[in-house]
Amino acid sequence: MSALIDPNGRPVDYLRISVTDRCNERCLYCLPENYANWLPRGEILSYEELLAVVRTAVALGFKKFRVTGGEPLVRKDVVHFIGELIATPGVECVPLSTNGTRLPELARPLFDAGLRRVNISLDALNPATYRAITGGDVAPVLDGIRAVKQLGYDSVKLNTVLMRGKNDGEIFPLLDFAAKHDVVIRFIELMPVSLTEMLNETNFMPMTEVLALLRREDELEELREFHGYGPARYFRLKKRGVTVGLIGALSDLHFCERCNKMRLTCDGKLRPCLGNHLETDLKPALRPQIDEPHLKNLFRATLTQKPPEHLFRNNYQPQRVMTAIGG
Ligand code: SAM
Repeated sequence: MSALIDPNGRPVDYLRISVTDRCNERCLYCLPENYANWLPRGEILSYEELLAVVRTAVALGFKKFRVTGGEPLVRKDVVHFIGELIATPGVECVPLSTNGTRLPELARPLFDAGLRRVNISLDALNPATYRAITGGDVAPVLDGIRAVKQLGYDSVKLNTVLMRGKNDGEIFPLLDFAAKHDVVIRFIELMPVSLTEMLNETNFMPMTEVLALLRREDELEELREFHGYGPARYFRLKKRGVTVGLIGALSDLHFCERCNKMRLTCDGKLRPCLGNHLETDLKPALRPQIDEPHLKNLFRATLTQKPPEHLFRNNYQPQRVMTAIGG
């Protein structure tokens, strides 16, 4: 089955699935402190409903399905769900995005369920800085990274959202850590998707500046073969011996050119773009019973609305917290 093509000529074959809006960390950049606006449990799609959406997406040509959240590893029975997702005919690639806090105990069961690709958020190595950003303890995350490496996962990437004045001092320690553990690290520009750590002139750390900093300190080789793989630009830092990806949703004017994604929120809304409020409610095709032809029509209709680029540069105001959308 060939991929669906959006109105801008881009093939779309990648669905990011938020399985929960719950998180066990504060993640200042995505969740307000004392957040209490959790979705009622009945609003969250069941695993059965999620797998029905996946089967429909496969029938339309989708191949890659990322499990994200909220923190996906806090949802009950998520390991079993991931195993079922991996075993779904036509599903070719299942990566997981996690804050890593539950990986010490779940890395092995996830591996046994067939998971081989994981992105782990790590915004600082310094325990105090990590705690200031997430409210949590960095030690289990570091143990989790070691656990997935020891088990031999095929792809392990670290994700760091950079904020000037908060964790910009962590860039080189994080690069050294990534080199030591032989993992790829990606630095991400803060996007205007949170209700607390609002993007502003002070905290914004453009990737153009990070690139200049890296060029001053190391010898960089751009890895063009990684391109087309996602919105990051990848570089090899020859002196440190580490691969770094830079994700500049705001400063990179070509950011959306190869976008192949749609997003499913944990309450069943299909979004054609992270930086746009457009969304289609899939629940009428899922409840009271699953109606696959209806689901297919909703998918196709949503794809026709996929905008050429996000609205982040146009004073975009988030209406939903990122945890429900999944980043
Ligand atoms: N809980 C999981 C985790 O921590 O990776 C998955 C969800 S998290 C929302 C997915 C990704 O979004 C993470 O890499 C996180 O760093 C990133 N993210 C969250 N808020 C962001 C923001 N305001 N700007 C850019 N990236 C953000």
